[in-house]
Amino acid sequence: MVQKGALIVVSGFAGAGKGTIVKKILAQDPNLALSISMTTRNPRNGEEHGREYFFVTKEEFETAIDKDMLLEYAQYVDNYYGTPKKYVEDMLSEGRDVILEIEAQGALQIKDKFPNAVLVFVTPPSAEVLKSRLEGRGTETPEVVLKRMHRASQEVEIIDKYDYLLVNDDIDTCTEQMLEIVRACHKRPCSNEDFVSKLKNGLSIYR
Ligand code: 5GP
Repeated sequence: MVQKGALIVVSGFAGAGKGTIVKKILAQDPNLALSISMTTRNPRNGEEHGREYFFVTKEEFETAIDKDMLLEYAQYVDNYYGTPKKYVEDMLSEGRDVILEIEAQGALQIKDKFPNAVLVFVTPPSAEVLKSRLEGRGTETPEVVLKRMHRASQEVEIIDKYDYLLVNDDIDTCTEQMLEIVRACHKRPCSNEDFVSKLKNGLSIYR
């Protein structure tokens, strides 16, 4: 049975653990491809151009917007972030499942363009846990932590637009639940168009 690749969007507050979950599911499912975003923010320690992000200037980002090279983009805490179009389209047409790890505004743009995209929201068990995880990272100044908490207070308002909610209490449980969602994506009629059309064809003589 030929299956088309599924587009899976993972969002969640910075500090929710979505990055870790995404890394773990990528290691377990070779059919998954991760889209690398473009951003104007500076690399953090240990981040590499082309691995975590394509780090670009504001001018380069704006050129990508003008040339319609992005599937979606958004501004997040003073920087631009966007999803390069070509990689995602190539992977989906090869039948690979594609994961986008993006924030909520971008996720909704994707849902508009790809109604079959599956949107997953990852959250820590509470606001307090979120703040202490952000502080515990030690990579952000207190001012940035507060900005990110403020942003989270806005993002939570559109949580209802997502298809699935994952509460990250325990990373391994959460990873398994995420893999279940990916598997369930393949059980949708829209992921099995060839099968559905053969079935319809086979039944058409009984109409
Ligand atoms: P960070 O700076 O912590 O790497 O990412 C900040 C936020 O931007 C995260 O919520 C992350 O998911 C989101 N993000 C990363 N790449 C993209 C993208 O291509 N588009 C959008 N809309 N958000 C992104």
